[in-house]
Amino acid sequence: MKFDIPRTECPYCHETLSWAMRDAKGDPIPPRPGDFAICTYCEGLSVHKRDLALRKPTKNERFEAFGMPEVIDLQIEVANERGLLQSN
Ligand SMILES: [Zn+2]
Repeated sequence: MKFDIPRTECPYCHETLSWAMRDAKGDPIPPRPGDFAICTYCEGLSVHKRDLALRKPTKNERFEAFGMPEVIDLQIEVANERGLLQSN
């Protein structure tokens, strides 16, 4: 499937982002409103609004996100890309 990658600004560090969700094969997945995103610059957790721009999550959304394996996987992936984790 082909689609345009929406570019948006991180609500924390204000870097311009293209979102980073991937499917099991490593292909990018288009975001939907309400999906979580992790900033590749500051690792900030944010939520896609209806227009797919990013906003900071509510307290409840943060609790929800940190229980989701795909969000944890994404945080690890971002940390790896930034060289913060050592792979053995
Ligand atoms: Zn950021």
